[in-house]
Amino acid sequence: MSEKILAINAGSSSLKFKLYDMPEAKVLMSGQVDRIGSQTGEFSYAIAGSRSKSVAPMPDHMAAIQHVIDTLLSSHVIQSKNEISGVGHRVSHGGRYYSEPVLIDEDVKSKIKELSVLSPLHNPVNLMGIEAFEKLLPHAKEVAVFDTAFHHTIPAKAYMYALPYSYYKDHGIRRYGFHGPSHEYIAQKAQELFGAERTHRLISCHLGNGGSLTAIRDGKSINSSMGFTPLAGIVMGTRSGDIDPEIIPFIEEEFNMDSQDVRKMLNHDSGLLGISGISNDIRDLDKAAQTGNERAQLALDVYAHQIQQYIGAYTTDLEGLDTLVFTAGIGEHSALVRKMVCSRLRYLGVKIDEAKNQANEISIEAEDSRVKVAVIPTDEEIIIARDVMAVLD
Ligand code: AMP
Repeated sequence: MSEKILAINAGSSSLKFKLYDMPEAKVLMSGQVDRIGSQTGEFSYAIAGSRSKSVAPMPDHMAAIQHVIDTLLSSHVIQSKNEISGVGHRVSHGGRYYSEPVLIDEDVKSKIKELSVLSPLHNPVNLMGIEAFEKLLPHAKEVAVFDTAFHHTIPAKAYMYALPYSYYKDHGIRRYGFHGPSHEYIAQKAQELFGAERTHRLISCHLGNGGSLTAIRDGKSINSSMGFTPLAGIVMGTRSGDIDPEIIPFIEEEFNMDSQDVRKMLNHDSGLLGISGISNDIRDLDKAAQTGNERAQLALDVYAHQIQQYIGAYTTDLEGLDTLVFTAGIGEHSALVRKMVCSRLRYLGVKIDEAKNQANEISIEAEDSRVKVAVIPTDEEIIIARDVMAVLD
């Protein structure tokens, strides 16, 4: 029987959604509300390929969700709210509790709240989305899909930090890995496109404003670059990625900053923006570098270098490499970044065809490349919708 399932990705001032007719996975409507919390909220959506945009006051997430539901009704995508039988929420941190999607109840909500200390930017907002839907679609079943869940197969030798053991045992301080729905989608899609033989040992590079790399063996995550929180790993748009931990107490003492100041600096003022002083957007850095801006070029060089280092490390974890996939905003669109990253991977058998790279083709490896190199648009929402179906079943 067909079911209408909503996939929700709630951010601090945004809400992305897709309404699916499952199990066919037909997208009935997709869209996004931006600038939640302002009088000029922006609502954009698409129904059957036709796009619309409007501006309206969006004081909070509740108002944004009400707006989405009203539009679903007024555009006759649904005739009644009750047609939506399930809502899947992307939730940032599942900690030690969740390695699978779960039906949301009071206990799950309290655990998501408890885990907010580990993901202060995301878990509270995800919970806000969940509670707003509970009020507005009380009959629908709500399911939490955790960013960390796909990584529950990472072995202890890769997730342990070399801290006193009690921090791990009593407080769950370990590597978790994030962007699970995206890496899971890439693992499945690559296998579907290129076959199991060609995708035994795969590295998924999710390069967006946030970014992470995952080493995937036979469809399972065995290591991922984000850690205890999404701040770790490669340089990101405004996040530092990995740094020497001693830098933190040093700057706290030297510049009289408290942990809140440091957290803000590491999450919002660092990364590509921090190095370049211009922008967190690769397009701006590319333009600036072309006109001779040295710090923009430095930011690009550091970015590509760190990605290369993780690919080298993960090839070791996988004991070889069959397929390398680029995805998310930068991975899908920046031929420059892909070229820079691949330029020093010849020793692994990675060689790209620059014309295919420039054209953003699905397969961009050269004919004599030993490794398959692919550009695959990610689709976190379909993983969320499938997870909802699995839980409802
Ligand atoms: P995401 O977080 O996946 O939405 O990715 C956002 C980032 O993708 C932006 O900050 C840009 O750096 C990058 N991006 C998006 N479109 C392009 C493009 N056409 N060329 C290069 N980079 C892009």
